[in-house]
Amino acid sequence: MSGFPSFDYRNASLYGESIRLDRIAGEFGTPCYVYSRAALVAAYREFDAAFAGRDHLVCYAVKANSNLAILNLFARLGSGFDIVSGGELRRVMKAGGDPQKVVFSGVGKRPDEMRAALDAGILCFNVESEAELAVVDRVAGEMNKIAPVSLRVNPDVDAKTHPYISTGLKENKFGIPFDQAEKLYVSSRQFANVRVTGLDCHIGSQLTELGPFVEAGEKILGLLDRLETQGLQIDHLDLGGGLGIRYSGESPPRARDYVAALCKGIGRGSQRILIEPGRALVGNAGILLTRVEYLKHTPHRDFAIVDAAMNDLMRPALYDAYHEILPVTANKGNVKTYQIVGPVCETGDFLGHDRKLALSQGDLLAIMSAGAYGMSMSSNYNTRPRAAEVMVDGDQVHLIRERESVDQLVAGEKFLP
Ligand SMILES: *Cc1c(COP(=O)(O)O)cnc(C)c1O
Repeated sequence: MSGFPSFDYRNASLYGESIRLDRIAGEFGTPCYVYSRAALVAAYREFDAAFAGRDHLVCYAVKANSNLAILNLFARLGSGFDIVSGGELRRVMKAGGDPQKVVFSGVGKRPDEMRAALDAGILCFNVESEAELAVVDRVAGEMNKIAPVSLRVNPDVDAKTHPYISTGLKENKFGIPFDQAEKLYVSSRQFANVRVTGLDCHIGSQLTELGPFVEAGEKILGLLDRLETQGLQIDHLDLGGGLGIRYSGESPPRARDYVAALCKGIGRGSQRILIEPGRALVGNAGILLTRVEYLKHTPHRDFAIVDAAMNDLMRPALYDAYHEILPVTANKGNVKTYQIVGPVCETGDFLGHDRKLALSQGDLLAIMSAGAYGMSMSSNYNTRPRAAEVMVDGDQVHLIRERESVDQLVAGEKFLP
């Protein structure tokens, strides 16, 4: 048993749904991201169904994994989208997403990105500062449009997650400080070209407890009361994303329990509820398949040098994140404690430390829980073309992104005259 429902062993071979992963490596090469359609659909449906009839919109956070096939799959299920750039807006439109289900987050939206979003007719801008509010107002005015906005409020709660992915503390760059929010909501009336429709917060990522969500929700409700007293009409509450997944020992709340807790906290208000899950929709629906190039035994350490690296999956190097690493063919050989490292010229280029595995040169490994912030954070460092991406669907496998070529990498580069 792998512990990952869509990627499990049958007779000592690791499968993605009904397809052997060694077959995928043979056909598409390595490194290769492999996603499970069934896992993506199940994760979306669990969130969506948990609202039990309450008016809501699940807005998938595109930055977690922005492959068009994945966006298209969620669009077909009725999902909305949380975007953080004009590029992500283009992806959503190309993938057939409904712009009226798009919310635009992020601290540094440029005027041209705002124009594109207004042109598309998105649902809402999640505005993160007074200065940004003024720019949205100006851009909308130039286009003779009214921009729908929420203010993203920073509730100052401790998400108890990695400091790089905690966003709801007063020292973070995100959102409008909680004690300034009411004033800014009131003064937003002076902007003729914005219409305040919502109230937004997002406190961080990979949260494994409900407590911080509930605490933020209570603060948001308190603010909502005060805004209504001031005569502001708020149509929707956007409670952000951030629900964690199990990478190894964590036991995060189930999506249905998380949604139930949010709905209970909000009570019977009339507002529509938006959520912006990213990781929890895609994280455990994907793996990174890699091959052992060399084993290197030194007096101090045993290294397995694999063909995936920090440019393919940055999370270990960036956050010291843990990903389970499983053999694609369970091997009964000599177990050693391996450092699983890539070929990139950085000591930080590791995928796992101290993993007890029986390995031989040429073996395949599956780096688990790689569906979120894997491919979407990848780079071309060391002039490494990015990995292929495939989707398994029962006993079918579809290429959803070709492996990049070096020619593509250098296509925009020019010699001096
Ligand atoms: C990154 C992000 C999300 C998604 O976070 P997850 O932890 O992947 O669920 C949602 N909303 C905003 C504003 C974000 O920046």
